[in-house]
Amino acid sequence: MNTPLTTRHLFDYGTTYFRSQGIVSRQASGATRTTFGEIGDRVRRLASGLRALGVRQGDRVGTVMWNDQAHLESYFAIPCMGAVLHTINFRMTSEHLSHVINHAGDRVLIVDRSLWPQIAAIRETLKTVTAILLTGPAPGSDPDRTLDYETLIAESSPEFAFPDLDEDSPMGLCYTSATTGPPKGVLYSHRALYLHSMTLGLANTLGLSADDTLLPIVPMFHVNAWGLPFAAFWLGAKIVLPGPSPHPEDLLDLLQREKVTLAAGVPTVWLGLARELMKRPTPLNLRLAVSGGSAVPQSLIRLYEETLGIPFLHAYGMTETSPLVTVARLRPHHRELSYDEQLTIKASQGIPVPGLTFRLERDGQEVSWTGNDAGEICLKGPWIADGYYRDQGSSTPVRDGWFHTGDVATVTAEGYVHLLDRTTDLIKSGGEWISSVDLENALMAHPAVFEAAVVGVPHPVWDERPLAFVVLKDGCEVSKEELFASLAPRYARWQWPDDILFVPEVPKSSVGKFLKRALREQYRTYFTNPRE
Ligand code: AMP
Repeated sequence: MNTPLTTRHLFDYGTTYFRSQGIVSRQASGATRTTFGEIGDRVRRLASGLRALGVRQGDRVGTVMWNDQAHLESYFAIPCMGAVLHTINFRMTSEHLSHVINHAGDRVLIVDRSLWPQIAAIRETLKTVTAILLTGPAPGSDPDRTLDYETLIAESSPEFAFPDLDEDSPMGLCYTSATTGPPKGVLYSHRALYLHSMTLGLANTLGLSADDTLLPIVPMFHVNAWGLPFAAFWLGAKIVLPGPSPHPEDLLDLLQREKVTLAAGVPTVWLGLARELMKRPTPLNLRLAVSGGSAVPQSLIRLYEETLGIPFLHAYGMTETSPLVTVARLRPHHRELSYDEQLTIKASQGIPVPGLTFRLERDGQEVSWTGNDAGEICLKGPWIADGYYRDQGSSTPVRDGWFHTGDVATVTAEGYVHLLDRTTDLIKSGGEWISSVDLENALMAHPAVFEAAVVGVPHPVWDERPLAFVVLKDGCEVSKEELFASLAPRYARWQWPDDILFVPEVPKSSVGKFLKRALREQYRTYFTNPRE
C-alpha cells in the first residue's frame, strides 16, 4: 500500500506503544520529568492553540529554543498539524536572525524567555510574525504583545485532529550559513524525515532503539539535532534534553544520573566532556559517543576508547542532507587490524548509510576510489535537498541530478570516505592541494595540544601557504620546533604550515565549528606583509 510517510506516524506510534517512556528536560532550577503519553496530550493542545492563533497548513512557525521539553512538543505539534517547523539558530547575528525569519515568513515564533533579548532587538524588523509565545521560567512580567506558552497549552483543547498530509509536503526548515551572503533555507519533507529517522535505527548506523537513553547535545536548531529526537520518539528511546547552556559538568551529571547510552555532539563538545571526565572519573553507561559536524582527531577517539572505555562513532553530514550521510563503523575483518590501523578507519568519515547513492567527482567526471584521488562528494537520496528555499536557483547545488556537497574527499577501495576539506578550505600551494583537516589532526595528536586549526593564507610565491593556530592544554607547554618535528614523520616539508601561532582559543561558529573564514580574513596579509 502506498501509505504516506509522515511525521504523524512517528508521533502516533511513539505515543501508542511507548506511552510510559520517559522524557527528562534539564532546567536551570532542576529537571522536569514527563512521558511520551503526557507529551502527546500537550502536543495536541499546542496544535489547537497554534490553530487558534491562525496557523494553517504550510505556514511556518519559528522556534528560538533550547533542547528542552517545549521544543520537543513543537517538533511534533507543528509538522503534525501540517505547518512547517522552522528551527532558528539563536546564535546568528541580529541581521541574519531578522533575515531568516522574514525570508521564511514565520507567522508565529516560540521563544525561550532566556533568549528573548535576541528577538527583542529585531522585533520591529519582523514583517510576517503575528504572535510570539514565550516559554521557560517566567522572571516576572513578560514583554508587551507576547503570549505565555503554558497558558496557551492549558487553555487549548487536547482534541486536535491531525490532518492527512501529503508525504512530499514540507515539515521542517533549517537555515545553513553560506560562505557568502545570507543563510540559505533547507526545507525537509515528511517523507525525507521519515526515511532519515528510520535509518538512524539501523544497526549499521546508530542502532537507536527502545533500549537506549538518548542525550542529543547537538542543538535542536541545528538540522533537527541530527534528526535524533524524532527517531528516538518513534523508536521508543528515553529522551534526555540538556536544556539551557549546558556546561560539561551538567552534561556529565546527566550522562551519569540518567544512565544515557547514546549521546551526540560536535568534537568540541566531546573534547570538553573528556576534560571533565579526566578531572572527575565517573562510571557511565554510554554505549556510543556519536561525533559529527567537523572532523574528529584520532587522538580524541583514542582518548575515549582506550582511556575512558567509551565506544566512539564518527559520522558526517550537512544541513542539506538531513544530515546523516556516512558513519565510520568497522567491518568484521577490520577487527584483525592493529588498533592504530583501526583508528584510521574510525577517524575517516566512513561509508554512506543505506538509502544514499554516492559519487566522487572532479571537473564533472567520476573519480575512482583509489584512496588517493580527490574529488567532490556528490549525493542522491530521499533525504538530500534538491535546492534552497525561496532561492532564485542561482546557487543550485544540484547539477545533473547530483547534489554537490562542496566537500572534497578521497575514498578507499572499500568505500570509506576521507574528507580532506570544504572546497573553500583546501589550501592550494604551488599547484598542490594541502588538506587543512589532515594537518589539524596531526597537530592535535600531540599530547600538549588541545585544539588546532589550519587555514590557507595568501602567499606571494606559492599562492597560498598553511598557517596553524594552536591552543595548548591547561598547564602544558611545547615549542613550535617540537610541533614541527611531530609532523615530520607523516608530512613532507612543503606540507608543513609556514608558521604556528599559539592562541588562547580558536574562533568558533554558532554551532561549535572552527570559524576558518574569520581566521583567513584576520591573517590575510600574514605572509605578504607580516609587519602590518
Ligand atoms: P552544517 O550544514 O553546518 O552541518 O555543515 C556541514 C559541513 O560540516 C559539511 O559540509 C562538512 O564540511 C562539515 N562536516 C560535517 N561533518 C563532518 C565530519 N564528520 N568530518 C568533517 N567535516 C564534517
